[in-house]
Amino acid sequence: MPDCIFCSIVSGDIPANIVLRTPEVVAFTDLNPQAPTHILVIPTEHHENAAALAQDNPAQAAAVLAATQKVAAEAGLTDYRTVFNTGPEAGQSVFHAHAHVIGGRNLGWPPG
Ligand code: 5GP
Ligand code: ZN
Repeated sequence: MPDCIFCSIVSGDIPANIVLRTPEVVAFTDLNPQAPTHILVIPTEHHENAAALAQDNPAQAAAVLAATQKVAAEAGLTDYRTVFNTGPEAGQSVFHAHAHVIGGRNLGWPPG
């Protein structure tokens, strides 16, 4: 998708600190981390948000979820939060589906 930052990270046109790459997913550290560990896991296909991804490519949605566990374990986390912001009102600012994997500090609930 032209002009999509995360598609450009998948293609390598925009650099990122990539921690996991498979044919289905790419995971990289967030540019503006909200916790000691803050990793984004994205599908290699462009889908606007997690809802569209789950509907249009459930296998790739499952791969994203499986990758969140892998990157969390590799970061040494047993307790962490996986967040999919879906829509601007929920805080989504990049419209390529992504999971946030956040941990390494006490996380409040409910989130803001
Ligand atoms: P959202 O607000 O859509 O749920 O999350 C988007 C996330 O992408 C934000 O946490 C933001 O810091 C991160 N982000 C935006 N642009 C870039 C970028 O170019 N590189 C990286 N590594 N993270 C980005
Ligand atoms: Zn994209």
